[in-house]
Amino acid sequence: MQRKQQQKELPLGQNIMATILESIPKEANVTKIDYEGPRIALYTTSPRYLMEHNEIISNLVNIIKKRIVIRTDESIRKMEEDARQILSKSIPKDADLQATFFDTATGEVSVDVKRPWLMQKNSEAFNHPEVTEKIGWKIRVRKATTNPSSTIQAINYNLKVSSADRSKQLKQVGEKIFRSRLVQKSEVSLFTLGGFGQVGRSCMLLNTPDSKILIDCGINPGARSPMESFPRLDWANITLDDLDAVVIGHAHLDHTGFLPVLCKYGYKGPIYCTEPTLPMMNLIQLDAIKVAAAQGRTPMYSERDVKQIMKQSITIPYGTVTDISPDIKLVLANAGHILGSALCHFHIGNGDHNFVYSGDIKFANSILFEAASWNFPRVETLLIESTYGAKEDIQPSRPEVESAFINSINNVLQDGGKVLIPIPAVGRAQEIMMVIDHYMKSGQMIESPVFMEGMIAEASAIHEAYPEYLSRELRQKILETDDNPFDSEYFTNIEHHDAREEPLREGSPCIIIATSGMLEGGPVLEYFKNIAPDKKNKILFVSYQVNGTLGRRVLDGARQVSMLGKEGKVEVVNINCGIERLDGFSGHSDYNQLISFVHKLRPKLRRVLVNHGERRKSENLSMSIRRMFRVPTHYPQIQEAIKLF
Ligand SMILES: [Zn+2]
Repeated sequence: MQRKQQQKELPLGQNIMATILESIPKEANVTKIDYEGPRIALYTTSPRYLMEHNEIISNLVNIIKKRIVIRTDESIRKMEEDARQILSKSIPKDADLQATFFDTATGEVSVDVKRPWLMQKNSEAFNHPEVTEKIGWKIRVRKATTNPSSTIQAINYNLKVSSADRSKQLKQVGEKIFRSRLVQKSEVSLFTLGGFGQVGRSCMLLNTPDSKILIDCGINPGARSPMESFPRLDWANITLDDLDAVVIGHAHLDHTGFLPVLCKYGYKGPIYCTEPTLPMMNLIQLDAIKVAAAQGRTPMYSERDVKQIMKQSITIPYGTVTDISPDIKLVLANAGHILGSALCHFHIGNGDHNFVYSGDIKFANSILFEAASWNFPRVETLLIESTYGAKEDIQPSRPEVESAFINSINNVLQDGGKVLIPIPAVGRAQEIMMVIDHYMKSGQMIESPVFMEGMIAEASAIHEAYPEYLSRELRQKILETDDNPFDSEYFTNIEHHDAREEPLREGSPCIIIATSGMLEGGPVLEYFKNIAPDKKNKILFVSYQVNGTLGRRVLDGARQVSMLGKEGKVEVVNINCGIERLDGFSGHSDYNQLISFVHKLRPKLRRVLVNHGERRKSENLSMSIRRMFRVPTHYPQIQEAIKLF
C-alpha cells in the first residue's frame, strides 16, 4: 500500500512496452507483453528464469508503477492430462492432492491439497520453479475444503468455457485503463444514488473528468416499490457504456443485489472485488432468484445475468494498488465485516485526492476476522457507514455477549424448547457456528444438535476455501494444522425440506440456524411458523433487522403476523415464543467503534461523509465526528452531488 506522494508523469502505452523490453534480459525469453485487465502480463517460455530472479520484476514494477504478472507462453503449456500426471508425481504424498483446475485464460493451475503447509514457496519437498517449467502452467497452491464448494466449482467451470472471450475482454479493459488522460487537472464529485439516509440499495458514482466509477450496486430488501428498492441510476444521467468500472465492497444484497440487473441491461465493463466476494455474491444473488420465485414474484434477473458477472469480474487481493481508470487507483483493504469485505481506497489523479469508502466495517476483532484496516497513507475524504451511528448504539463487549448467548440458549434447551436463529448465510452464520462449537466443546453450553438450513453449509465451504482472508488464528488452524473448526460433529446440514421433521420433532430440544436473517423468505419461514406459537421456544436475532422486514416487526413486538403460505393462502401466525436480540455479534461497528476508527485515521482528514444508516443515526454520527475531530462533516441524502475536490 506504500505509494510515493509525488509521482512523475509515467510512460504510457507504447512507452511501457518499450521500457519493459529494455529491462528484461534475453534469458527470460519473453515472447509477448499484453494487458490483462489492470495488470501487464509477460509471457515467457522460461518461467523458471523469472521466478528465480524475481528482483527483475520488482525493479520493473518500481519503474513503470504498474502491476506485472508472469504468464507461461501457450507453446510450453502441457496438455492438461499430462500436466496433471506430472503434478501428482511431484506433489508430496502427505500434502494429499484433491483437485486441480486449469485456467486457460491465465495459464494458471490451482492445486487443491489437504495440507498446503507442506508445499510452501521455498519448501524442499516441492520445487515451484522446476515444476512450473516442466508443466508450462503457473502453480497456485490452495487449501482443499472439507466439502467442495459447488459455487466455486461452477465459477471455475464458467471461467473455463469463457476463457477465450475473457482474454480478449481483459485486453480491452487494459487498453481502456491505460488510455491517455484527457484533462490533467482533477475534479472529483460523488453522486449519491442509494444507501444515504437509509440502510439498503447502497450505490454511488465517483466522477472525474476522465472516469466514472460506480461503487456498490445494491437493493433495499425492505422496500416495496421500485422507486424505493433500486439505486437511482436514472438520476445520475449516465449510460452503462460511460462507466469505467464497478467496484464492489462486499457481497451482501444491499450492496450487490442490483448488479445482475446492470449486466442484464448491457453493462460490459470490469467489476472489481476481492477473490472471495465473487463466490459469495454469486451465492447470494442466485439465492435471491429462488427467494423471489418462492414468494411468487418475478425475479429481476436470471441465472444468466449472474454468470455474466463472473466473466466480467476482476478479483484483487487486499493491499494491492490497482489502476482502474486513467486517473484512479484502487486499493481494497480488510473491513472485518464479512468474508472478503473491503474498505475501498481511491487514489485520484497524481495524489490530488484520496477518498476512502468504508463500506460496512467492523472495527473490532471477531473469531472470523481481524478488525478493519485503518493504516492508509492518505485520506482526505472519508465516507463512513452509520448502521449503529446513534450514541445509544453501544454493543456489549464480546465476552458479555457470548455469556448472554450461552445463558439464553441454555435456558431454552433446559426447558426442552428449541432456539431459532434467523441468520444471513454469510458471515454471522459462520461466526455463530464457531461460538457454538467452542462453548459446546468446552462444556459451557448444553450439548444439543445444531441444524442448519439455507446456504449456510455452502457459505462455510467458501470461508474455508479462502483462509488468507480469515483472522490470523483461524487461518493458522486451517492452513497449518489438521484441526479444522468448520468441520464440527454438532452440525447437521438440512439439505432437503423432507429432512425438517428431525429439527421440528416435538420434545427434542435443539438449535436451528436458518436463512434468511430478516425473515424475508428462505427456509427460516417454515421454522418460524412452527417455532413461534410455542412459548417454550425462542427466536434469537443476532443480526440487524431493516425497517419494513418481517424480522423487524417481530422484534418490535408483533404478537401476530400474516404470512403467505403454500398455494398463496394467507396464514396467521401467533407469536408466543420468547423473542430476543443480541447485538454484540454484529458485523457492524457500534458507535464507539465507529468513532475509534475515525480517530485512527486522523489527522489527515479534510472531510467526513456519513451514509448507510437510518437518517437519525447518520445525522448523529455526523454531528459527533464534527464536534470531536473538528472536521467538516455531512450526511447526504439520496440524489446529492457532492464536490470532493
Ligand atoms: Zn453488509
